[in-house]
Formats: sequence, C-alpha cells, structure tokens
Amino acid sequence: MAADCIFCKIAAGELPSEIVYSDDQVVAFKDIRPVAPVHILIIPRKHIPDLTAITEEDRELLGHIHLVAVEIARQMGLSERGFRIVNNCKEEGGQVVYHLHFHLLGGRQLRILG
Ligand code: C5P
Repeated sequence: MAADCIFCKIAAGELPSEIVYSDDQVVAFKDIRPVAPVHILIIPRKHIPDLTAITEEDRELLGHIHLVAVEIARQMGLSERGFRIVNNCKEEGGQVVYHLHFHLLGGRQLRILG
C-alpha cells in the first residue's frame, strides 16, 4: 500500500466507495463522477502507479483484471450491447489518479476517441 494513495485506501476499505466486485487481487467500484450510465473503475490491490510500471510479474494480474471487467459488464447487461475499457496513462493520457485503474464504460452510445 502506498501512503497518500486514494485508491490504495479505497481498496483497503479506509475510504468509502460503492464496491461492485472484490477479490484478493482486484477491487471494482463506481466512479464518483460517472460519464456514462455504467462507469466502474477496476483497480489492482497492488499499488502500480501507471501502466508503464507493469512488469512480467503482473501478466496474470492484467489478464485477471480484464476477465473481471468482462464479468462485471455481463452482470450490468452490457455484454451484448457493448462497452469500453479505458486506461489513461500519465499526463497526456489524461491520468489524474496515479494508481493503475481501468474505466469500464457503457450504457449509452460512446463516441469515437479523440
Ligand atoms: O483515469 P483518471 O486518473 O483520469 O481517472 C480517475 C477517476 O477516478 C476519475 O474518473 C474520478 O472521477 C475517479 N475517482 C473516484 N473516486 C475518487 C477519486 C477519483 O471515482 N475518490
């Protein structure tokens, strides 16, 4: 756990959040400022600052995160309609919170990225 990391604190239950899924490796919770009817953040419990910090050791974890994302999408009724998984990496990628996270977005027609 990294000191002063809000997502580490959410994963540890030290900050409130609307958790929709949790296991020994990942936590998924509702984004506090949703930009779509479904907007879930999926994070590893392990503190990884951003996508460039992943290592070979994280290979299984990243696969697991995607399997969890698809399962949540299925439970939210999005697996037929479609959805988007987004990772914002560092400043020009629009990253604000420096604990690796994937946005699961859906429930409306999403625009082409730009
Ligand atoms: O990918 P990026 O770092 O820009 O996204 C951070 C996301 O974390 C934002 O969508 C923001 O609304 C969300 N957030 C949250 N709960 C917090 C702090 C930020 O859901 N306590």
